Amino acid sequence: MFIIFGTRGIKHTVKDSAVLSNSCPNCSQGSLVNKLYRRWFTLFFIPVIPLDVIDRFYACDKCNSAYNESIKNILEQSKTEIEENQRQAKLTFAKALIASMTHMAVIDNEFAAEEEREIMDAISNFPEFKDELNNIHTAIKATKNENNQVFNYLNEARKELSSEALINILAQAAVVLLADGSIEKEEEDLMKEYLIACGLPKEMYQTLIDRLQQKDISELQEGQLN
Ligand SMILES: [Zn+2]
Repeated sequence: MFIIFGTRGIKHTVKDSAVLSNSCPNCSQGSLVNKLYRRWFTLFFIPVIPLDVIDRFYACDKCNSAYNESIKNILEQSKTEIEENQRQAKLTFAKALIASMTHMAVIDNEFAAEEEREIMDAISNFPEFKDELNNIHTAIKATKNENNQVFNYLNEARKELSSEALINILAQAAVVLLADGSIEKEEEDLMKEYLIACGLPKEMYQTLIDRLQQKDISELQEGQLN
């Protein structure tokens, strides 16, 4: 009997490897499926004995693009990077917020209970940064922005955040300004300095105050980012 034998590579799906959903860099819709080529011993062209693995890779189930297995780490890394950037932006927002609210509360040399409550409410929106924010609050309350740290926080915020986020910070600082029922000259001047520090026109001051006095301020409590 004439026996035909040989080897051939067959593509398999790696069963215990997670599918990377909707992450194809080429078509951005397809999912990447882990595949391998295994060499098989064939008898009469029929694979009968699995041999070594020749190659492992990811293939897109939509556009068929194939990627080196390292694509998995690259995709995971960028996900971690995105999350870290979001965390950083949130922290920058929270620091500028608590710093300016506290500064606004101490500028008239009277720290009212309503002001303290507004600030504590704001801190409670960021449980993950609670200690850091409490430290900032305590420091600014004690030094009254002696080292200009409030403007440093606002500068960082201006570099990293959108103007929408900046206006949100200033609106919440303005809530503190309005909390004790009267607007002192120091408070008004400080709010205008904040606007300038954030690259916003100081004429916005009146609009901001008018809006806040008309509106239910609880709507502004949700810290909005970017
Ligand atoms: Zn694709």
